Amino acid sequence: MDQPASPLAEIRARIASAARVARRKADEITLVAVSKTHPAEAIAPLIAEGQRVFGENRVQEAQAKWPALIEAHAGVELHLVGQLQSNKAEDAVRLFDCIHSLDRLSLVGALAKAMDKAARQVPCFVQVNIGAEEQKGGCPIAELPALLAEARAAALPLIGLMCVPPAEIEPAPFFALLDKLAADHGLSGRSMGMSDDFETAIQLGATHIRVGSALFGARD
Ligand SMILES: *Cc1c(COP(=O)(O)O)cnc(C)c1O
Repeated sequence: MDQPASPLAEIRARIASAARVARRKADEITLVAVSKTHPAEAIAPLIAEGQRVFGENRVQEAQAKWPALIEAHAGVELHLVGQLQSNKAEDAVRLFDCIHSLDRLSLVGALAKAMDKAARQVPCFVQVNIGAEEQKGGCPIAELPALLAEARAAALPLIGLMCVPPAEIEPAPFFALLDKLAADHGLSGRSMGMSDDFETAIQLGATHIRVGSALFGARD
């Protein structure tokens, strides 16, 4: 083991060891490689190493970058991890395989309509504003039951909850809270944990971790 491991190999090893500590199986945890701001040339080596699930936070950027990569590499999955405007719902449903950012009632109708039109069911996480931060996206906890009810009434394929906890403070209580909310609402997916805190998220039940800078380096 003198060879320096690739960033991807290192993250995989850290996921495996966090899963072991949590007495979970590593293959219950999906690594979403968040490639926002990074060009196709930075993404291709990860695909070559076997990474198949990627995340982007802007529809337009993804539209510019991904169709060619998806065409060239079978089995690549693209997840939307950033805020979605209703007028981009149709584009998002056509390009993405999973949406982590359903965060408001008006988006339920837009997504349902877009999925109908595209004849394509795209699994969705509901994003929760877990730290009740004014500037942050996500549904307020108090409004979560109504949003989930609306999404279920519209027959959207809901798979879980997603959060981005407040920066610079211990994230564990927020991950634990998201885990409890998901359990209370009968949802199995928990999209939580990023480069700085994915191991903690794995201890607290993350099923999808969204890792960017630890794989691709810092963004500008
Ligand atoms: C950018 C981003 C990430 C990845 O963040 P890193 O700290 O670079 O790992 C995860 N989730 C969301 C919603 C993001 O926008």
